Amino acid sequence: MAFKSDIEIAREAKKQPIKEIGEKLDIAYEHLQPYGHDKAKISQGFIDSVQDRKDGKLILVTAINPTPAGEGKTTTTVGLGDGLNKIGKKAMICIREASLGPNFGMKGGAAGGGMAQVVPMEEMNLHFTGDFHAITSAHSLLSAMIDNHIYWGNEAQLDTRRVTWRRVVDMNDRSLRQITSSLGGVANGFAREDGFDITVASEVMAILCLASDLKDLEKRLGDMIIGYRRDKSPVFCRDVKAEGAMTVLLKDAMQPNLVQTLENNPAFVHGGPFANIAHGCNSVIATTTALKLADYVVTEAGFGADLGAEKFMDIKCRKAGLKPDAVVIVATVRAMKMNGGVAKADLNNENVEAVKAGCPNLGRHIENMKKFGVPAIVGINHFYADTDAEVQAVIDYCAEAGVEAIVNKHWAEGGAGIEATARKVVEICEAGEANYAPLYADEMPLAEKIETVCKEIYRADNVVMDAKIRTQLKEWEAQGYGNLPVCMAKTQYSFSTDPGQRGAPTGFDIPVREVRLSAGAGFVVVVCGEIMTMPGLPRVPAAESIHLNDEGLIEGLF
Ligand code: ADP
Ligand code: MG
Repeated sequence: MAFKSDIEIAREAKKQPIKEIGEKLDIAYEHLQPYGHDKAKISQGFIDSVQDRKDGKLILVTAINPTPAGEGKTTTTVGLGDGLNKIGKKAMICIREASLGPNFGMKGGAAGGGMAQVVPMEEMNLHFTGDFHAITSAHSLLSAMIDNHIYWGNEAQLDTRRVTWRRVVDMNDRSLRQITSSLGGVANGFAREDGFDITVASEVMAILCLASDLKDLEKRLGDMIIGYRRDKSPVFCRDVKAEGAMTVLLKDAMQPNLVQTLENNPAFVHGGPFANIAHGCNSVIATTTALKLADYVVTEAGFGADLGAEKFMDIKCRKAGLKPDAVVIVATVRAMKMNGGVAKADLNNENVEAVKAGCPNLGRHIENMKKFGVPAIVGINHFYADTDAEVQAVIDYCAEAGVEAIVNKHWAEGGAGIEATARKVVEICEAGEANYAPLYADEMPLAEKIETVCKEIYRADNVVMDAKIRTQLKEWEAQGYGNLPVCMAKTQYSFSTDPGQRGAPTGFDIPVREVRLSAGAGFVVVVCGEIMTMPGLPRVPAAESIHLNDEGLIEGLF
């Protein structure tokens, strides 16, 4: 059976002028800052003016451990937003913006898929409203000011061997991972080891997504650690006086972007921090504003629930004072099969036993969500090749685990294909059973926080941390950072640190390789295993087949 590609569907969308989408949220046109006909930023004046309103209900879409294909969290988020509108609710969605670089590596956009997409999808996946360019610029300004500070005498006594602030570019370019900068003689400064990350890995991105307003943004930027002196004391961004100018560059990027779904329902698409060394959710300002504008707000967290939902609950909700009302755990028959040991190439063959074998992965995520006090249901994202027997196996498993599982066909049918889940979500929200609490208290020592996540969520036997790391955590506690949450950076494919261990593994330890302090974002990054902050392109990058056709339309993107 042949399907239209995501880009073909998106191109046929009957978009409404952004003014009309704003009207659905009672936003007067003067409060929209239009970027063309189908995108707009929301003015700060408007955001300030709605703060007294009551909050709507917040629904998190998360998932089982993904297969490399991505299993449909964004698609489900978009579909559920449309489904809620379809049953007559005032609902909107909040999702992340896309990183530009990865589009040219492997196919796969960030705007959802099939009949559940956000438009304009090409722009959303490319330059959009320029937010990521602004972040790259603000980040690069600080990079330039650091080397300039060193060049003109290094008053802050930054040890050039201990500069932790790396450079960024929004492109998959492995050749820049480790570089030597300032080569070429005296006029070019002091040569030092340096390197690039992709823009979404910038701490500036994490801060933009957690800051409550521009004042808070500026303070957090100033708090970022850029490196250390010879005595190992930290040097901050504010020591090179960059935070004011960085805030100027980020002024517009802070405002949420309003776009629409294929069914003309409002969507905020704003921010996009990495889900490993950062928290992987859209901006706090978009989510808190959406809660003032709609009765139901559906949002997504990156990766599986062990990483994405845990960080959503323990970092974003804790810091922003959000209280989620319901969780939808996306599961697919395909991912259950992969978790049950089936290879990617064999996913289209019926295999009920493998589905059953993979279900404990889902079961563990269900149990984990209960630990945050938020009621969960399972949304089975239906794929064309799924058989009834396979789908039934997942439903039966969930029934035994005491959780309702509902089959969703939003990818093929749009909002109409997910109405049952929408109704169930409304029922849960109205019952008011949620009693959100983060997994650990602010006061818990950092090492204990790490152990709590590893044991409670991943189910590790032990956390292996050498003395050097424990001492580092103690030092940060002494410096006043002990109350920060931890941001786990681990493979998304397994509960363990071994991507090959799918399902619900037990009997493993979690080795902590490194800890990093993101003092501006406000979390301690805990690196468990190899973490990539600058991706590379595959042997045959998608860029080779992306081009403009004779009509000037983009071909080959998705
Ligand atoms: P995630 O947010 O979990 O990474 P997405 O929602 O972005 O996943 O979906 C990843 C890809 O899978 C998209 O290209 C989307 O079109 C495709 N996809 C999602 N759901 C389905 C489905 N039910 N049938 C076919 N393709 C799907
Ligand atoms: Mg997604």
